[in-house]
Amino acid sequence: MYPNSIEKLIECFRKLPSVGRKTAERYAMALVEMNKDEAREFAQAVLEVTDKIKYCSICGHLTEKELCSICEDENRDHNTICVVQNPKDVLAIERIGLYKGVYHVLHGAISTTRGILPEDINIESLLKRINDDTKEIILATNSTIEGDTTALYLSKILKNYPHVFVTRLASGLPTGGNLDYVDDVTLIRALQGRIKQ
Ligand SMILES: [Zn+2]
Repeated sequence: MYPNSIEKLIECFRKLPSVGRKTAERYAMALVEMNKDEAREFAQAVLEVTDKIKYCSICGHLTEKELCSICEDENRDHNTICVVQNPKDVLAIERIGLYKGVYHVLHGAISTTRGILPEDINIESLLKRINDDTKEIILATNSTIEGDTTALYLSKILKNYPHVFVTRLASGLPTGGNLDYVDDVTLIRALQGRIKQ
């Protein structure tokens, strides 16, 4: 058993994704071995992130300001909206540098098994964004049961906006794969070959 303060740190690290007891212990011990300045910088960075980072008031992506850099960018096509589950997915699509539209981050997906309903994710704000100029909505939720359920739900609702062209990323994405794990070539193909819903 470690001293209490170290145990507490280990518990903190265990809250991170894919960190088990052993890894958490390693991280905690690395912190113990840091000098005071390094440790302070580490702690400060954690605090700063929770203080500064918020969600863009239009699309829900991460930002330190009212709007994210993508929503603020006048050179982007604001009439094409790519709907994703998480901020990480925005970064994955941005990485391939092909997409010039804007995004909408749902912050989750509909899940019958986990009891996540349409009203629990950012769908209402998506519908509010749609106006007469909206051209296309690309459903880029993950190719998992939850992602597919969400895409199906959205494509039904979006039928109420007949002027909007609704597409889904082409298949070819590995089933069960999260968007941010897909390699660039597959993602480019999926985006270019998107299918009308
Ligand atoms: Zn935004």
